[in-house]
Parts: sequence; structure tokens; C-alpha cells
Amino acid sequence: MFNEPGFIPWQLNLIRKRKNGSNKNALEKHLEWLIAKGETREPQMICPQCNKERVEYFSVRYSYDGRDFSISPAYTCCDSARCTEKLKAMAGGRGPHFFRIRWSSITRVTTRKSDQKRVADVFRHIFNLPYGKGSRLTAEKAFEFFSS
Ligand SMILES: [Zn+2]
Repeated sequence: MFNEPGFIPWQLNLIRKRKNGSNKNALEKHLEWLIAKGETREPQMICPQCNKERVEYFSVRYSYDGRDFSISPAYTCCDSARCTEKLKAMAGGRGPHFFRIRWSSITRVTTRKSDQKRVADVFRHIFNLPYGKGSRLTAEKAFEFFSS
């Protein structure tokens, strides 16, 4: 899920396309469950702009040609207009794009797998999971994340 965020929705789609009839098999149910978890999980991180509310959005600054972007846990914010404005001001002329902190947002930021992984790395930070170079997300940790 963290190493290849687009893989699970892709796999689910494939299963749905191939099957006959409407019965769901165990794998399909499991994938749906994982996706639902990624959508409803509440971030615990506090907004770096106001240091009060919990974060709800992350922002992305695309390069002029749109081929590259920058992203960071520091570019996240809560629901307040003041915090969104602060991030816009920080980005200067290039208005940042805001996305809800949800799993499905990852594939909306970019279609490139290596870049989706960069977004997932920021999610690790937001959800208080091992973060940064050399940190490993063990199967146990990932399971804990999705089952709590
Ligand atoms: Zn805030």
C-alpha cells in the first residue's frame, strides 16, 4: 500500500473486470476493506500552520511544466481559511493544489509510480508511521495502521 499506492485500486479493478456474476470473493472484499480504511483514517498530525487543529489537507506545488512537484509534511493544513492562505502565500505565484488526506488522493496527484511513493512517504509522516530514509514499515506496523 505504501510502496505502490496505486496497486490496490488497480488490482481491485482487474478482479471486477474479470469476474462473472455478482458474488464477491474474499480477496475482493479484503481489497475493498483496505481502500475504505485508507479513506476514513483520521490524521493525528497537528496543523503546522496554526499548531491547533488536526491536518485535513496536503498541498502540492507543481513545476511550471507540470512534470515535477514538491510536497512535504510542512505543506499540510487544517480546514481553516487562514491556514490555507498561509500556504498559498508561501508558494508565491504558483498556487498550490490542495488535496484531502485520503488514500485516493495519491493517484490524483500524479500517475507516476515513483512520485506516488513520495506522496505515500508524506502520508507516513502524517499518520505517525516510520518516516524518512532507511526507515522500514514492517508488515506488523502496516497491519496495525489498517486495523486500528
Ligand atoms: Zn491550521
